[in-house]
Formats: sequence, C-alpha cells, structure tokens
Amino acid sequence: MRAFIGLGSNLEDPIAQVNDAIALLDETNGLERIATSLLYASPPMGPQDQPDYINAVVEVETLLAPLAVLNALQSIENCQGRVRERRWGPRTLDLDLLAYGEVVMHDERLQLPHPGIAERAFVLVPWAEIAADFEIIGLDKVQVLADACPLAGLEKINT
Ligand code: ATP
Ligand code: MG
Ligand code: MG
Repeated sequence: MRAFIGLGSNLEDPIAQVNDAIALLDETNGLERIATSLLYASPPMGPQDQPDYINAVVEVETLLAPLAVLNALQSIENCQGRVRERRWGPRTLDLDLLAYGEVVMHDERLQLPHPGIAERAFVLVPWAEIAADFEIIGLDKVQVLADACPLAGLEKINT
C-alpha cells in the first residue's frame, strides 16, 4: 500500500533527528521508501514558547497493516527519545501517518487520514513536492489543499 509519513522535530538538532528517522524507516521491514521531500522550517503550532520545527514528508510502499505502521513509527519516536508532555509541546521527533492508501479509520490509536492535514502547510507543502496528485480520501488532491493553505512562515531550508 502507498502511505505517507509526516516527520517533525524541534529539539536536539532537528535536522539530524529527521535524517536519523529516515534512516530508521529504511531499516524497517515491510517499508520501502519511495520519495522524500526537502526539509522545511516552520514556526511552532500551538504553544509558541518552543523552537521552530524542521519538517519533511516521506512516501513509502508498505506491506504492513496501518496499525503495524503506527507501531513502527512510535518505536522510532521512542528510539529517538520522544517524551510526551503537553499537547503540541516540543519534541525530538514526531512521526505521523498522514494517509494509508484510501483507508479511513477512526481507531482510538489511529485516525486516517491524519486529522489536521488540511490546515497544516508544513505537511501539505512538502507532501505536494513528492505527490501533488495524490487524492486524500474525503478531502482533495494534495496540491489543491497546499495551494489553499496559508504558508504560516514555512520555509524551505538548504542542507
Ligand atoms: P497531531 O496528531 O495533532 O499532529 P502530535 O503528533 O503531537 O499531534 P502525538 O503525541 O504524536 O500527537 O500522538 C498522539 C496520539 O495520536 C498517539 O498516541 C497516536 O496513537 C494517535 N494518532 C491517531 N492518529 C494518528 C496518525 N494518523 N498518526 C500518528 N498518530 C496518530
Ligand atoms: Mg503531529
Ligand atoms: Mg504524532
């Protein structure tokens, strides 16, 4: 199945955190990375008393079921020292499963497509870079949503 993962970090060398997470995704059985966006910097969503974020989006082809993908993402977050404190607080690594094919899911642990996509430039802009024509079930094409979303200070970074 074609799936998309949103990566974010704003602690302990965020660029390295995102690159390390990509390396760990590549080591995950049943996941094959197909495309990777550039890295972006964005001001924090929610609490403003925290550093800016580095974000990227990765496309994978996967044999794993949706909850198995989530388990893999959470174990990578834990490997990289993710501590859950306040909502939308600073973190070493956030890996969100943005979409899993056309699957719609409302499990307690897993909502698909990921809620909040349509308002998040830091998700939509990198996503449009790698899969502009992907149709997010129940929403629209990634590019259409990206074009409609305020950029909110999002910037492509040179690495
Ligand atoms: P947001 O989900 O608004 O981006 P967040 O990423 O900071 O916020 P987390 O603390 O990473 O939130 O995750 C909170 C819970 O969200 C997790 O325990 C996870 O089970 C659940 N969750 C639901 N749907 C998804 C999804 N599509 N991808 C990742 N986690 C999800
Ligand atoms: Mg998130
Ligand atoms: Mg998350």
